[in-house]
Amino acid sequence: MAGEPQDDCLFCKIVAGQIPATVVRETETTLAFRDINPQAPTHVLVIPKAHHADAAALAAADPALAADVLRETRAVAEDEKLDSYRIVFNTGSGAGQTVFHTHAHVLGGRGLQWPPG
Ligand code: 5GP
Repeated sequence: MAGEPQDDCLFCKIVAGQIPATVVRETETTLAFRDINPQAPTHVLVIPKAHHADAAALAAADPALAADVLRETRAVAEDEKLDSYRIVFNTGSGAGQTVFHTHAHVLGGRGLQWPPG
């Protein structure tokens, strides 16, 4: 069911505390933690605690929760004192999504090229 924890989901396990992560922010509905393989000096993942497979599924099922995630990306950028940064939701394997629990990448602390690869 939409939003329910999934046994085989890495990020649900991080939410449950079964897998460690370097958490930088937590709210009732969201968790923000450092990416294990950072692609920039700041690389934080912001996730809804509830399981939704990707950004499209989250937006369809719970727009208020999607707004919570977006609000937290801003808070991370403020905490990290980022003037410029990128928010990325890889959506679908063809776009590079590898973990199918919605997450916003917050990337900053270096110059970022456009277009992305
Ligand atoms: P995606 O490719 O799905 O957009 O992003 C998944 C991200 O999760 C990748 O940047 C990857 O480095 C990160 N990741 C994968 N496994 C772990 C983990 O166990 N802990 C943390 N903190 N990040 C992870």
